[in-house]
Amino acid sequence: MSHDPSDRPSAGWLADETPRLDSSVKGSAFEPTSPRATEPVVGPERTVDGFAKAFLDELNFEAGVALKRSTTTDQYLALARTIRGYLMADWLRTAERRRQNPTKMVGYLSAEYLLGRQMGNSLLATDLGDIAEQAMTSLGLDFNLLRAQEIEPGLGNGGLGRLAACFIDSLASMDVPSIGYGIRYEYGIFRQTFEEGRQVEVPDAWLSLGAPWEFPHPDRAVQVNFGGTTEQYIDGDGRTRRRWLPAWNVQGIPYHYMVPGYQNGVVNTLRLWSARATQEFDLKIFNSGDYAEAVRAQTFAENISKVLYPEDSTPQGRELRLQQQYFFVACSLKDFIDRTLEEDFDLTRLDERIIFQLNDTHPVIAIPEMMRLLMDEHDMEWAAAWEVTRKCFAYTCHTLLPEALEVWPVELMTRLLPRHMEIIYRINEEFLDTVREAFPGDELRVRRMSVIQEHPERAVRMANLATVAGVKVNGVAALHSELLRDKLLPDFAALWPNKFTNVTNGVTPRRFIRLANQQLSTLITDTIGPGWETDLERLRELEPYADDAAFTESFRQVKQANKDRLRSILSQRDGIELPEHAMLDVMVKRLHEYKRQTLKLLHIVSMYDDITSGRVRREDVVPRTFVFGAKAAPGYFMAKEIIFLINSVAKTIAQDPRVTDLMAVAFPANYNVTLANKLIPAADLSEQISLAGKEASGTGNMKFALNGALTIGTDDGANVEIRELVGDENFFLFGMLEPEVAALADRGYTPSSFYESNPALKRAIDLLASGHFTGGDRSLAAPVVDDLLYKDRFMALADFQSYLDAQARVDAAYRDVDGWTRSAVLNVARSGFFSSDRSMRDYLDRIWMPKS
Ligand SMILES: *Cc1c(COP(=O)(O)O)cnc(C)c1O
Repeated sequence: MSHDPSDRPSAGWLADETPRLDSSVKGSAFEPTSPRATEPVVGPERTVDGFAKAFLDELNFEAGVALKRSTTTDQYLALARTIRGYLMADWLRTAERRRQNPTKMVGYLSAEYLLGRQMGNSLLATDLGDIAEQAMTSLGLDFNLLRAQEIEPGLGNGGLGRLAACFIDSLASMDVPSIGYGIRYEYGIFRQTFEEGRQVEVPDAWLSLGAPWEFPHPDRAVQVNFGGTTEQYIDGDGRTRRRWLPAWNVQGIPYHYMVPGYQNGVVNTLRLWSARATQEFDLKIFNSGDYAEAVRAQTFAENISKVLYPEDSTPQGRELRLQQQYFFVACSLKDFIDRTLEEDFDLTRLDERIIFQLNDTHPVIAIPEMMRLLMDEHDMEWAAAWEVTRKCFAYTCHTLLPEALEVWPVELMTRLLPRHMEIIYRINEEFLDTVREAFPGDELRVRRMSVIQEHPERAVRMANLATVAGVKVNGVAALHSELLRDKLLPDFAALWPNKFTNVTNGVTPRRFIRLANQQLSTLITDTIGPGWETDLERLRELEPYADDAAFTESFRQVKQANKDRLRSILSQRDGIELPEHAMLDVMVKRLHEYKRQTLKLLHIVSMYDDITSGRVRREDVVPRTFVFGAKAAPGYFMAKEIIFLINSVAKTIAQDPRVTDLMAVAFPANYNVTLANKLIPAADLSEQISLAGKEASGTGNMKFALNGALTIGTDDGANVEIRELVGDENFFLFGMLEPEVAALADRGYTPSSFYESNPALKRAIDLLASGHFTGGDRSLAAPVVDDLLYKDRFMALADFQSYLDAQARVDAAYRDVDGWTRSAVLNVARSGFFSSDRSMRDYLDRIWMPKS
């Protein structure tokens, strides 16, 4: 394994110049550079015997069990601890290197990290997979069974949380000094089960078997205050100042997670905060003699990091959610400022040490918190504090849905964070002066741009606050950034055109190609050599092989092997039996109306109707297996009805002998990163069918293209860029363009007119409505059907015919086996742009460290 840092690209701007210590784990010692003596850290030997010995040490001396008596859980935990032992020297060395040579860092602030399993990624990062497997075999243990024990940390909802996980992976793999901050939810995203076709949520007790990948540091707790009032006072220098007199507080306990770079000797840190009652808080109540009340108070404090809110794209304005947001942001800022003060740093130059990237509005309360820290705790004047604060944050917007923009009622904000509310008012006052100066007499504009909305209730607009204070505001795909500028925040763009920029999302090729698709990875490496995992544009070198018979044959075999593997996984995991030869047509993502799972369902029903009514000849049908994966927010009624209807259609189709040889619908429960890694490499067709102008970027679309699936998609989000790169002829475009959507909305959209005028659409909807798929009960299909007919906010009916036409083109293309394979190869070869390493480079160049 290569550990020589000189043969890989450096991060450029941030790369520190200190000579690297030898970072090969074997026999290397951590050499202390700080005055305080540090003990050497030596990793276990990189041999099968060394690994087996380290494993037995973990089992015997840490867990206190003998191999012979150990459970699978014991063995899994010992295996995980053994692997992390190999990362330890690199982790400590990376941290020390960063401390010794302080440079500007990236602080990624995100309320969600959808990490996925840690073991496979750690084995890949250390290149220990073979050694670990042989060691387990030598002890008579089933390596794959142990790996399957891990419950993935589901500390995110979907795309936004997964993006954060991809970004920190890239930052480590590129050796960018950075730290991820977030929340250690005790319960992550719920586990989804189905009962009679309906979603049932089960708590995700991911910590229940032990947490071998985390390092708690209760001794480094940080206090976080809430509530109370503010007051004016005169300080020792005779200055009039304000201070916060909080009513209650909690402690934030940091838990550290390793973020290993890809075989480069770098291990960055993800610091997640867990809430605990403060002793002060406990003691006061214990001393009053009310033991039960004291214990209750503890629960109250610990509730803050108890559970991830399962809403995706439509936040509920719940008080506990604001508490969560402030909690992790307050911990993180204090943590970072204390760190810079260790080097006796002048906080007026804090922007030389940090740029905080705000992942959506969830952490935007960090802006007034920074002002409060600098003024109230570090004696800075308003002007100086504002001067530096406005250089320390950048804001990423992830939506185009107005209802997804967070607002917090002024009443709640005043009650929970009174000092912050004052600061927000003052920021807004000065900002609105700027607006009035730039646009004299335009009070309507002033009202639109204000950080405070007046109707329907007085509330703080977090996106406006982030835009006012941020150095940059970025969208997450080219089209999204354009619409963000022109439609969502046009007034801000008029005032500060240069504040707006784009960084198209990406995904990490380590997890989503190397780990997920080992056979494709081997084929790629055999064809173009190693190194593409950290330089994904090199996939271009595959282009000539799109016409190479031997290569395309291997490529097809890999796809078939992935499909076979998926069939066996779904059979074991969900008892779903899929046909052997069929096009695998996959739609996996959160269940949301704008993503239009119903449009997919209408296509399926239409195909079913065509076959059962004899409208198409059986020999003309291209057999398909449709796979859905989707969680619905527990309070999202329509999304849950759609899940029920998909399951109902799946069941009816499975029981209808007229179609079972031609179509099957599978809806494995609990779509998560682990399942994504198994599904995506097997897919032939990727469904990316949101209404144009609604999907900010999508990242699922990128994962599919990189694994050789062809996309059927609208001109939306990053689909636009995928199509540009892979070529029109290798992408199935359908549907209205965004301006057409806007025009139709302006004219007034009536879905029923599409229903009346399109016979195929009418047949599909009538069949759904008839109760055919719901055991004869029409009422069970009515919520979805009625919504489509009378509301259809996301215009599925308007795009239906175009979608059917595109699906017919898909069928024709799939019949041409060579042509399809060629397109699939070209999708892989031309999607290197979608590496999250490229996204990180764009953030560096455009936001974190622009050249100009
Ligand atoms: C990539 C990913 C997503 C995002 O999918 P989109 O299709 O972009 O919405 C959601 N959930 C999981 C588990 C993922 O891996």
